[in-house]
Amino acid sequence: MNESSTTQAGTLYVVATPIGNLKDITIRAIEVLQSCDLVACEDTRHSQRLFQAHGITNKTKALHQHNENHDSEQIIKQIINGLNVALISDAGTPLISDPGFPLIQLAHKQSIQVVPIPGPSALIALLSVAALNTNPFVFHGFLPAKSQQRLHAYQNWLPLESTHVFYESSHRILDSVEQLIEVFGKDTEIAMGRELTKRFEQIFRGSAAGLMALLQSNNKHLKGEFVLAIQGERNNNEGTFTNEQSSLAITLNQHLPPKVAAKIVADHYKINKKKVYQFILEQVKT
Ligand code: SAM
Repeated sequence: MNESSTTQAGTLYVVATPIGNLKDITIRAIEVLQSCDLVACEDTRHSQRLFQAHGITNKTKALHQHNENHDSEQIIKQIINGLNVALISDAGTPLISDPGFPLIQLAHKQSIQVVPIPGPSALIALLSVAALNTNPFVFHGFLPAKSQQRLHAYQNWLPLESTHVFYESSHRILDSVEQLIEVFGKDTEIAMGRELTKRFEQIFRGSAAGLMALLQSNNKHLKGEFVLAIQGERNNNEGTFTNEQSSLAITLNQHLPPKVAAKIVADHYKINKKKVYQFILEQVKT
C-alpha cells in the first residue's frame, strides 16, 4: 500500500454517457456527474449538450488524446489531494476507442479508487440486437485506415472462430465491406449498426453481400457512425462444423486421401485444416 491510500484521497469515477440518444444515461451517472468536484471531458463543449439536457452544472476540464499524457498527472494530484473526479468521453464508455488510459493507469499506480459507472457502448448495443455468437467475441476498435493494412487485419482473423466486432468510419465503410467479402466470402453472416440510438438508426443483419447491396442502394446509408460484427463461421462447440462443411469433408474423403480432403475443405471455408483432418479421421473410425 502506498502513501496515497492512507490519506483522504478522492475517487476517480469512469462514467459511460450516451452514444446518441441523450436519454440513455443512468440515474447514477447523472448523480456522479453533478456531485463530483470535477468532470474530465474529452471535449468540454460537446459534453455541454448532455449537461444541459440533465441539468448538470459542474466544473469541467478537457482531457483528450493530445493532452492526456501530460494532464493526467495533474488530475491524479488533485484526486490525491481529496477531489472526486469523473471521466467521460464524447460518447459511450471511456477507454473503448476513447481517451482515458493514462489517467486510469496512473490512478491504479497511486492506489486511487477507480469506480465504473457503466452504460452505453456502441459495440455492446450492436451485439445485443445482432443474434451473433458472442462466446467468444473479439473487439478490434478501429481497423487500420490504410486499405492494405486493413486487408491484412482481416486475413489475420482467419479462420473465423469467434465473432469479430469493429468500428468503421463513413469514409471507409464501402471499401471495408468490399474487402471483407474478398476475405470471408459474400455469404458471411454480418451485423451492422449505423447511427445507433439516433434518429436515423439503421440495423442490418444478414449476409455480407446483402449489406453491400444495402449500402450501395442509397447514399444516405453511407452517412454517420458505424459498428460492424462478423460471425465466426463455426459455432462455439470445439470440433463442430456446419452440415455443409462436414458433408463436403466426408464426400471428398471417399475419393481422396484424408489430408488432401482436409486441405480442400479448409481452404474452401477458410477454416482450420488440422481440425478438419481430425474430424475426417474420427468419421473413418466410427
Ligand atoms: N467509446 C465509444 C463506445 O463506447 O462505443 C466509442 C468511441 S469511438 C471514438 C467512436 C466510434 O464508435 C464511431 O466512429 C463509430 O464507429 C462507433 N459508434 C459510436 N457511436 C455509435 C452509434 N451511435 N452508432 C454506431 N456506431 C457508433
